[in-house]
Amino acid sequence: MCGLIGIAGSPEAAALAIEGLHTQQFRGLESAGVATGNGSDVHLRGGLGLVQDVFSQEVDVLGQLPGNLAIGHIRYSTVAKDARNARLYQPIRGLWGTEPFCLAHNGNLPDTTHLMSYIDQSRLTSSVDSEIIVRFFEGSNETGIFEDDFANALHEIRGAFCFLLLFRDEIIAVRDPQGVHPLSIGKREDGTFVVASETCALETLEATWLGDVEPGTFVRIRADGETGVTRFAEAAPKQCIFQLVYFGHPASIMYGTPIFEWRVKVGEAIEHMYPTHGADIVVPVPDSAIPYGIGYGAGGRSGRYLPGIWRHHYTGRTFILPTQNIRQAAVRRKFQSSIHDLQGKSVVLIDDSIVRGTTSHWVVDRVWKAGAREVHMLSAYDAIRYSCVYGVDTPEKKNLIAATKSVEETCKFIGATSLRYFPIESLLRLAGGPPGQWCTACTNGDYWHKANRLAA
Ligand code: SF4
Repeated sequence: MCGLIGIAGSPEAAALAIEGLHTQQFRGLESAGVATGNGSDVHLRGGLGLVQDVFSQEVDVLGQLPGNLAIGHIRYSTVAKDARNARLYQPIRGLWGTEPFCLAHNGNLPDTTHLMSYIDQSRLTSSVDSEIIVRFFEGSNETGIFEDDFANALHEIRGAFCFLLLFRDEIIAVRDPQGVHPLSIGKREDGTFVVASETCALETLEATWLGDVEPGTFVRIRADGETGVTRFAEAAPKQCIFQLVYFGHPASIMYGTPIFEWRVKVGEAIEHMYPTHGADIVVPVPDSAIPYGIGYGAGGRSGRYLPGIWRHHYTGRTFILPTQNIRQAAVRRKFQSSIHDLQGKSVVLIDDSIVRGTTSHWVVDRVWKAGAREVHMLSAYDAIRYSCVYGVDTPEKKNLIAATKSVEETCKFIGATSLRYFPIESLLRLAGGPPGQWCTACTNGDYWHKANRLAA
């Protein structure tokens, strides 16, 4: 999972891009990079680590990143299977004809065989799909008419992608026809355009949200503020429902939906479906389950909302750590409990989802140790039985608890009195639009890119 930021038309482009990456750091802990364009060249700087490590104040970062155009990328920590890939940060530099450009990518292409057939593979320094895309673009300057060549190239790319490209005098924001991941555009009062993976970054940069990059289109924004939109494919939405449930920042508007309010509504709906009458308290697992807890406890029929677990904000996400022992230690470091006396109480725990079960096991154990009589676990997302291939870092299928255990077995593993998953069909009804417009592959294995490939 990555965060993107684009700035067009500000003499402080690099500084704004770095600030925008900071805001999205909840998504990314592994690498960060910024590229700028100053009309005569592109400049690139990045590395591994947190934004504040890569863009240390001890180095004259802004002096090295001149120009009033910038794009930035942040990558969320994953287990590096290939040391070459682990070293790669984005944006990645390339050449379109003789024009230097840099590319930042959010998403994942599950099958790059098609693109690989077009490129000189000896030039690859990694097996990362984003680098394959850069090399593919390098060979796409066929007619010399950029608009046509770029649209034709995008037509060949299948999978989940949001791109930001930076040239010397413009940035280009691209969203795949499925619109899997969000990409929003805003504008500051001084006329600067801001493009971001999440609208919460627009707020930080004092930009007003204008709308989203439409699926199947690219938007060109020049340094002088001139813009243009080109459609390269019909929209065929498969928006990531899990972003609304978990990854999206509660302050963001995603796919047109204000995340916090929507999650509160989901919490209310879970209470209607799975009431726990007679429960004493409803405890959300922070941070993303807080609105679900508020919604679940709103009517007061199934317990009173009471935050009792606190998240340490400077640790990474735990389900992507390499071994079970490290994950358990990380969960202990990540959460602290202020629940000390629940003697004889019936407790409802609500979480956004259950991935490996490590966090749920720890939280349930804390509640028992505080003396609870019953511990009922609720998940706002359906059972995750399949790994994501579209750029959201879920573990391999064999490590997903719901892929190998029934609901009863999972309940036993986490040590709860009961366990309920909110069904995906109910969630889709609350998300709105035709159910087919949402990607749900991690719950039901419906990997839509396979059908698309057959149809292509
Ligand atoms: Fe999102 Fe799940 Fe689809 Fe991945 S498989 S894009 S996490 S809904």
